[in-house]
Amino acid sequence: MYKPLAVLLLTFLVIGMVQAAVPAFITKSGKARCIIVLPNDASSGEKYAALELKNHIKQIAGVVLRLIPEVQYSAKTGPCISIGRTAMSKKYVSETQLNALGDDGYKVFARNGNLFFVGGRRRGSMYAVYEYLESLGVRWYSPDYTVIPKLGDVIMPAKPFVYTPKLWYRDQWWNNAPTNEWLARMRVNGSNGQDHTLSEEMGGSTTTIHGCHSYAILVPPGENFDKHPLWFALKPDGKRSPGEMCLTNPELREFVAQQVLADVRERKGRVDNYWVSQNDGGGGGCFCDRCTAERLAHGGKDSWSANTISFTNYVADTVGREFPKVRIKTLAYNYTQAAPLNIKASDNVLVEVCGNFGPGDDPHAKLVSAWSKVAKNISVYTYGGSNYGYWWPYANEWELGMQCPWALENGVKAFYVQGTALGKGSGLGRPAGVPVCAHGLGPIEGCEEGDQRLLQRVLRARRQVCY
Ligand SMILES: [Zn+2]
Repeated sequence: MYKPLAVLLLTFLVIGMVQAAVPAFITKSGKARCIIVLPNDASSGEKYAALELKNHIKQIAGVVLRLIPEVQYSAKTGPCISIGRTAMSKKYVSETQLNALGDDGYKVFARNGNLFFVGGRRRGSMYAVYEYLESLGVRWYSPDYTVIPKLGDVIMPAKPFVYTPKLWYRDQWWNNAPTNEWLARMRVNGSNGQDHTLSEEMGGSTTTIHGCHSYAILVPPGENFDKHPLWFALKPDGKRSPGEMCLTNPELREFVAQQVLADVRERKGRVDNYWVSQNDGGGGGCFCDRCTAERLAHGGKDSWSANTISFTNYVADTVGREFPKVRIKTLAYNYTQAAPLNIKASDNVLVEVCGNFGPGDDPHAKLVSAWSKVAKNISVYTYGGSNYGYWWPYANEWELGMQCPWALENGVKAFYVQGTALGKGSGLGRPAGVPVCAHGLGPIEGCEEGDQRLLQRVLRARRQVCY
């Protein structure tokens, strides 16, 4: 009685193997086998994803694919590549699954001869297309060096893939490196006050309000120091200093919290990160009794970050009651670099820990470990170029190559690399920018390791030319 069943199973298995061996074509023998379909209400990122796919397929196979809105499409038209949140995609990806992908995550799969690129509506579909193009052999090594394979036939991916970047925020500051087009392809999504932010047509950048030293922007000393001297830091000589603030002052806390809340309301909540952070070179914190007592309760008299976190929590809690997704971003930098004890940052606080980071006994790595006990959300601000002179033909590629995987393993959610910063740097800024961005996407099964080895070879090759 079991024999016919075994034969039946074997038959299904053989049919399945035969079916799996037949590829679905996007182009075959110089002809299109699919058309591209966009949602009727396509987002800018979805439209850009479709154009990137169309343009690259043209260069790869010499075939121009038709691109239409879903309203013009029917199954009778033939197989399609559905990009973004089409009505067709809703049969296979629920709203809950889509929301779980965030802004940048994506899912690529084939069903019934059609190919689906579904992702977060800002940049997810773009990243899905980029990963697929990379699987065909496309490489964007630098803004002016791209490798595009020439293929007779272009086939749909044999296996589905799903990915949500572990790093929400990936940014770099190499003035001589990027074009916005290239940054989008490298999955850079940051906007830390630099010139290079992705246009809305490219899905837009992560929205970050203010640069990374914002206390003086939120509370300009020129307008406030004479009116509210108690808002500013008390120094050991008994005088108030306009360089930093008295972060435990209740009136100051409420002033800053209400100001940030009003600004976020005015921006209709379209804010990812809002900087509430110490001034650069401001001269340290406040020595008043209240600030000192707070530090003593959370690590000791020099635990300056206790004041920072307590202050940031107040602002974050106020804003979070109305806008829970907005992250209030602050610095662990200079005199606030060490983590406080027995205090937790609120869930909507993002702490940016500054320094050069690596694995093992590196003191900065220990710093990140200590901060991970305080804050759920950690961003790393690191230095990828030479601080001795941005013009040096030197890229800190050894450290960069190590620290991105290390940061991912240690739960870091955001990554920012200061490269040539204020200068233009040397030509090596370009190859240095590549591993920063590529690592920032995080490991992708079957692709990351090989790509990294290749990138390191490119870097070494350039160094041999330059040194
Ligand atoms: Zn104080």
